[in-house]
Amino acid sequence: MKLKVDNNKCLKCGMCHANFPDVFEFNDEGDIEVKNENITEENKEEIEEFKNVCPGVAIEEVKEEKKED
Ligand code: SF4
Repeated sequence: MKLKVDNNKCLKCGMCHANFPDVFEFNDEGDIEVKNENITEENKEEIEEFKNVCPGVAIEEVKEEKKED
C-alpha cells in the first residue's frame, strides 16, 4: 500500500502525525508528507482505517502503475 496526502484538502490538523509520527510528517512548508517506506505489515490496517478518520479526507491511496515498454 502506498499513500499520498492531497495538501489542498488537508486541514493541517496534525491528527495523522500524532497517530503515526513515522509515516505522516510535516515538512518545512507545513505540508504533510507520507513516508511510505514506514508503512509496515503491522501498522498497515490501522493506517488504512485512519484514511476514513482524516477530517480533510486528504489521505489517498496511490495506485501503482507498472511501466511497460
Ligand atoms: S489527519 Fe488529514 S487533515 Fe489532518 S493533517 Fe493529516 S492529512 Fe491533514
